[in-house]
Amino acid sequence: MDCLFCNVINKKEDAYVIFEDESHVAIMDKYPIQKGHSLVMPKMHHEKITDMTDVAVAKLFSKVPVVARAIIAATGADGFNIGQNNGRSANQIIPHVHVHIIPRYGQAGNLWTKRMISNEDDLAALAKKIKNKIKSG
Ligand SMILES: [Zn+2]
Repeated sequence: MDCLFCNVINKKEDAYVIFEDESHVAIMDKYPIQKGHSLVMPKMHHEKITDMTDVAVAKLFSKVPVVARAIIAATGADGFNIGQNNGRSANQIIPHVHVHIIPRYGQAGNLWTKRMISNEDDLAALAKKIKNKIKSG
């Protein structure tokens, strides 16, 4: 099975990792809707949250505020959306469960607006900043 996110988790594919514990990873989205757009995912491969145990889903979502707090601290965003898509018709592009954290800055936005191609240097610098915020709690 060739899964982009499993490859990221197994370090076969590069990504800007901002959080990792024994069963979860958070990375910067390479095609962000807004600056700081990140993805939190379980290391275990499941396509949809309905394929996971209730406990595993609860654990996954318990990591969301941890990562979101660091994104807010690093970016100064004044709000954020959480998105979790299941199935192609729901806009799920990578078939490995992930939770989107999309920071918002001042103006109201639709959840899925146009994505940007991020500058690698900016992404690396921001990833480092968020990572430090998670460490410092
Ligand atoms: Zn996977």
